[in-house]
Amino acid sequence: MTVKTVVYQALETGPALTILGAVHGNERCGPEAIKRLIAALDGGEAVLRRGTLQMMPVVNPKAYAQNVRFVERNLNRQLYPKDEKRHYEDHLDPIVCGLLDRTDVLLDLHSFASPGGPFIFLSGKNPRELAYAKSLGVTDFVYGWAEAYGSGGDSKESQGTTEYARTRGAMAVTLECGQHLNADAAEIGYRAILMALRHLDMLDPQCSAAASLDQPAEAGQLRCVRMKSVYYRDEGAAFSRPWRHFDAVMKGETIASLAGGGTLAAPEDGFIVLPKEGAATGGEWFYFGTATSYPE
Ligand SMILES: [Zn+2]
Repeated sequence: MTVKTVVYQALETGPALTILGAVHGNERCGPEAIKRLIAALDGGEAVLRRGTLQMMPVVNPKAYAQNVRFVERNLNRQLYPKDEKRHYEDHLDPIVCGLLDRTDVLLDLHSFASPGGPFIFLSGKNPRELAYAKSLGVTDFVYGWAEAYGSGGDSKESQGTTEYARTRGAMAVTLECGQHLNADAAEIGYRAILMALRHLDMLDPQCSAAASLDQPAEAGQLRCVRMKSVYYRDEGAAFSRPWRHFDAVMKGETIASLAGGGTLAAPEDGFIVLPKEGAATGGEWFYFGTATSYPE
């Protein structure tokens, strides 16, 4: 099984933008979004003005073929080339890392299991990276995930594509395009790629794809949630309603019923983040976060 990389190179020099799809094999929106972009470039609707556009539509081909998150190891953790290759995904590390070594900007397209729409994970305080993240047409952001839930001491354990790219000096964003089966997930990914190209001044403003793009969202439309706590599901506990990712809750509002007859209430005004209705007993159930202005 081989990994395909598609490269478009403009005659004018400029940044190298890398787009990744299906780092997790069951997240189908990325490959579809990249396929649409390739068709638009080949058909002339999208025109690359400068720089290099590198796309790996299916980063984990075996997981993609099996429609599973990964085969033997989560490719988006412990991402670095290894001398000893024990798992299938270990053979993919040097290919992905080699591409990221030649990258100035990364857009990694994912989707998730909870019901809900698109959002971006923010990390760190690089103002250039923040401006890039805000240019992608998405209005919801989750901040402080890596800080709160990354494995603090062992940075390589939680090192995925964005973390690796940042160690190489690149700006990097993970875009979650919505729930795995959302009908608009691929379209959101496709438009985000075009908006990334526009932000980097790599897209010819005269082409029809550029003309079809909205302006980026304004500050007042953006929602950013800072991660506060993780909840694990107790035996017999159940959500009080089928929560969607980014549902707002008020202080004291019932979130779930507990086996003993009690309830779980929101500790303050905030948001439900990535609820997993069917979480196993003891497993990660949902996260709680509060509204924040942009990363303080
Ligand atoms: Zn993913």
